Amino acid sequence: METKSEIVILGAGESGIGAALLAKKLDQSVYVSDAGLINEKYKEELINNKIGFEESGHDFDRLKNATLAIVSPGIPDTAKPIEILKDADVPMISEIEYGYQNTKAFIIAITGSNGKTTTTGLTFHILKEAGVDVAVGGNYGISMCRVLAEREPKYFVLELSSFQLEKVKTFKADIAIILNITPDHLDRYEYNMDLYVAAKMNIVNNQTKENIIIYNGDDRYIQSNLDNRNLPSTRRIPLSTKDYITGLVSSDTDLVFRTKLEGVHNLFNASCAIAACREVGLSETQIASGLASFTNMPHRMEPIAVIKGVQYINDSKATNVDAVYFALDAMTTPVIWIAGGADKGNDYKQIDHLVRDKVKMLICLTAYPEPLTTAFGNVIEEIIITEDVDEAIQVAAQYADEGDTVILSPACASFDLFNNYMDRGEQFRTSVLKRLKEN
Ligand code: ADP
Repeated sequence: METKSEIVILGAGESGIGAALLAKKLDQSVYVSDAGLINEKYKEELINNKIGFEESGHDFDRLKNATLAIVSPGIPDTAKPIEILKDADVPMISEIEYGYQNTKAFIIAITGSNGKTTTTGLTFHILKEAGVDVAVGGNYGISMCRVLAEREPKYFVLELSSFQLEKVKTFKADIAIILNITPDHLDRYEYNMDLYVAAKMNIVNNQTKENIIIYNGDDRYIQSNLDNRNLPSTRRIPLSTKDYITGLVSSDTDLVFRTKLEGVHNLFNASCAIAACREVGLSETQIASGLASFTNMPHRMEPIAVIKGVQYINDSKATNVDAVYFALDAMTTPVIWIAGGADKGNDYKQIDHLVRDKVKMLICLTAYPEPLTTAFGNVIEEIIITEDVDEAIQVAAQYADEGDTVILSPACASFDLFNNYMDRGEQFRTSVLKRLKEN
């Protein structure tokens, strides 16, 4: 009997639905399987496109018979269906690998612990404004496969998280950008930094001598990992996080300072974007024009309002200690710091000196304040604990003096009190704007 070849897609999030749409477009037999309930919006897309699905559990017998599994980045290797697929020898790839196998686009892939979205958005914006046929995707809102189900761009700027880089096989970036590697998501990697670094470094796998790696030359994890890899004379462009210009071609060094983004970390992000656009062949004028007209996505050092001389900044996307480091480092006024959430194994030592120098009050906006109160109980005089955003803003406003800054820069994931970091940032913004109206 002829066995029917069927692709199973595990996980019905943005990447899973994107992969399903691409499989459908390619006329492949496909179904989607999710352990939980599928979001109504996605379910509707599956139904409209006549793609089969199951939710609230997996039919393991059907899984075992699949010829290929496309696994969503949110599913860890320890999950039951992954074990089943492994035992049944079903090849497993990621959505990014599947997308890669079905495109001829020139790929600029960007990873790092912090700055991925900003650098991806900036690179995409500069290219698009210069008239390049370019698409953006990956972790950046829309999945790679969803883009490809709609059209084939000439250039693709991809934001890739470590999770998305876990199951790539033949994926090859024409230009890989590695921004930084600092401890994050260690809960997913058995609290083993080496495993996390290894996943990120998959971004340079398969590169050949025509390809380029643009990276943070001051990052010891990246440097040592590149040194230990047998990369076939890939061209390397190490950039500096100290002066933001070493490594760039000389005509581009002034460009870095044209960015309107706040904070020195963004000078580095800009230098990476500039180097990539230069390799694509853009002129200095084209790059300068794109840099000047770029505005970042919300929740990243986003100024919300000034009320009675106090500035309120939404940095809800700062979900790890390193991002908070740069946020506090950029502060030139006394700070009322709103932080906390679901802790991923944070070590706060790195920001101790900045907190001592700049933070006059810590507001723990979380159901789990202990890691923060333990780290800073003896460092900051005023520590308040609340689970209510309005209360956090009210306390901050009462305590702040004219000229101070109130910043939400949590160092943690948001799942203790919020749906996600966007929900957290939006609630912060709403609360601040409500206060602005009342004043
Ligand atoms: P990612 O997509 O990697 O999470 P974002 O661009 O969304 O990165 O920024 C996340 C957080 O990290 C924000 O708080 C931002 O201010 C901070 N950040 C941005 N770029 C860098 C960088 N190069 N180094 C450290 N922190 C950064």
